[in-house]
Amino acid sequence: ADPNPVRTTCPYCGVGCGVLATPDRAGGAAIAGDPEHPSNFGRLCSKGSALGETLSLEGRLLHPEIDGRRASWDDALDEVADGFRRTLEAHGPGAVAIYLSGQLLTEDYYAANKLFKGFLGSANVDTNSRLCMSSSVAGHKRAFGSDTVPGTYRDLETADLLVLVGSNAAWCHPVLYQRMLAARAARGTKLVVIDPRATATSEEADLHLPIAAGADTVLFSGLLVALAERGALDRAYVADHTDGFEAALARAYELAPSLDAVAAACGLEAAAVTAFYDLFAATRRTVTLYSQGVNQSAQGTDKVGAILNVHLATGRIGREGMGPFSLTGQPNAMGGREVGGLANTLAAHMDFDAASIDRVQRFWGAPRMARAPGLKAVQMFEAIGRGEIKALWVMGTNPAASLPRADAVRDALGRLDLFVVSENIASNDTVNAGARIRLPAAAWGEKDGVVTNSERRISRQRAFLALPGQARPDWWAVAQVAKRLGFEDAFGWRTPGEVFREHAALSAFENDGARDFDIGALSDLDTRDYDQLRPTQWPARPGAARSDTRFFADGGYFTPTRRGRFVEVAPIASGSAHDDAHPLRLNTGRIRDQWHTMTRTGKSPRLASHLPEPFVEIHPADARAAGVVDGGFARVTSPHGAATLRVRVTDGARTGALFAPIHWTDETASHARVGALVHAVTDPFSGQPDAKATPAAIAPV
Ligand code: SF4
Repeated sequence: ADPNPVRTTCPYCGVGCGVLATPDRAGGAAIAGDPEHPSNFGRLCSKGSALGETLSLEGRLLHPEIDGRRASWDDALDEVADGFRRTLEAHGPGAVAIYLSGQLLTEDYYAANKLFKGFLGSANVDTNSRLCMSSSVAGHKRAFGSDTVPGTYRDLETADLLVLVGSNAAWCHPVLYQRMLAARAARGTKLVVIDPRATATSEEADLHLPIAAGADTVLFSGLLVALAERGALDRAYVADHTDGFEAALARAYELAPSLDAVAAACGLEAAAVTAFYDLFAATRRTVTLYSQGVNQSAQGTDKVGAILNVHLATGRIGREGMGPFSLTGQPNAMGGREVGGLANTLAAHMDFDAASIDRVQRFWGAPRMARAPGLKAVQMFEAIGRGEIKALWVMGTNPAASLPRADAVRDALGRLDLFVVSENIASNDTVNAGARIRLPAAAWGEKDGVVTNSERRISRQRAFLALPGQARPDWWAVAQVAKRLGFEDAFGWRTPGEVFREHAALSAFENDGARDFDIGALSDLDTRDYDQLRPTQWPARPGAARSDTRFFADGGYFTPTRRGRFVEVAPIASGSAHDDAHPLRLNTGRIRDQWHTMTRTGKSPRLASHLPEPFVEIHPADARAAGVVDGGFARVTSPHGAATLRVRVTDGARTGALFAPIHWTDETASHARVGALVHAVTDPFSGQPDAKATPAAIAPV
């Protein structure tokens, strides 16, 4: 064996496991967990350990294409630059957009954000992370004044109570979940799972609350009331470090006037709700983890707010074994947030306020700054459908499969004057929706850069394979287009390390401690330092102790008053109204052994054998009523689309609810693209789509 394997980071979930890759000189590599990486200490889940089976070049896009014909990079880049220039001249910056991905490296994200927001004047820069964690971003910013994850993974191991809300971590964040279970075995940690479905995670729980979809705000409002009535609040923390408690408590009483009202709204037994409240009140070391069941909601930001409220009220934040914790879905959702890769953020956790616009403009030397937020994902594709956005670059994601109302998205893509994709693969639902210019992107194992995991830890992804064909990194393609538009000086990077240094320097530029994201200490890494960068958690402030990696135990929020803010959460959002033709609610999500639209995981027969075909889960009572049987096929319909799926009848489903995985597309299975069914209802603050409660119907095929 090679004694010097390449240290890199897994390309899948937000746990961010370290990987040792030992290339075999035949285009493959042996894969093992990195025992020195502080996310996983050598462990890998089924997806990570199968990475070596996914490295073939089969199906790859290896050369630029224009109108279906092979082209040179020069010609393709000229076409891209000319197309954007013409669109800007004719229609202005509102007519151009770029749609990014939580799979991209931070350097790719930074380059794209800089070009569009600083040099093309358009903030129409959004990302599939909008579908993943934007409600957490909005919730953090409302409560903390910044998009800050207060705690660390270590807190999950030193807590005495773990509350998982809307998270099947056993399947979706497996290695972190294994860490939780190992600590639990050692110290008897209690585990509460709040999820409408019975899952691999709820099987292990001391208490499973199969809550009705959308009722989390009521459950956590009731918890705030219960804590107040039991004298379990940290009154000193509330008085010293927060604002708005009394108003938030008054609202909580309105939403949760009694235990019976909470139980009824949540569809739970009152005794189970009481058991949860008792446990929470009695256990100071509590971490509440939440994921897509909270975020992907018409009320995701308020759900986050209701969770943050109880941690602010008990002072259980930023201390060992305590805090709210957002589990990010993608490998670099956090890095995207850090560069400002969301339409409503500017750069380095700065917003579109006048001072930040001026600061970033001076730092970039930008000639044409966007001065207001752009369109968020769902709005962006609706604007494409209306013909208002005319030139689009999609980078590393498959919106024609993954966005709500995916059929309408696919149709909209066909209306573009200029449609560019940067992709690893030659064919997927988005590429096939009329992408005129196709740029071959470097894939995992071929490119270099950094990603940030759920606990703010920045890790290197390192190349261990040669670039195949003419594949190139995405940051390079962006810089080449920028040069053709006349911005050579600002995009003259030669290496990803140079991009990273600029990003780190921007985070510290005129930052007097008023912004949380500051990795200025990493801005002077030389090439060797960058190549050898060890996993590093921010804050990495100049002069800060290396142990100083939690926030808010002693206040110090990033609001104007430096105090945390309680939130008055709204009543349960109605989402889409039921109608007689669609009496059920469709919930979508992941399975253990597939990732997104299966571009990579689909290459591993071992992974495919876990759950080999698209399916829908249904409760026995609903199955009987609909006349569908276990193992048969059913047609699931919504007002927006239809899919044909294998039926799995299970007691673990809630009555009235269906569950279908997101992974299969028109490219990988016939008529199983569930994104086509999902309604386009979004959270009013975050713009995140509600992927958990679309009105739907089911019938035998
Ligand atoms: Fe990769 Fe996530 Fe599995 Fe770790 S837990 S190996 S990051 S998919």
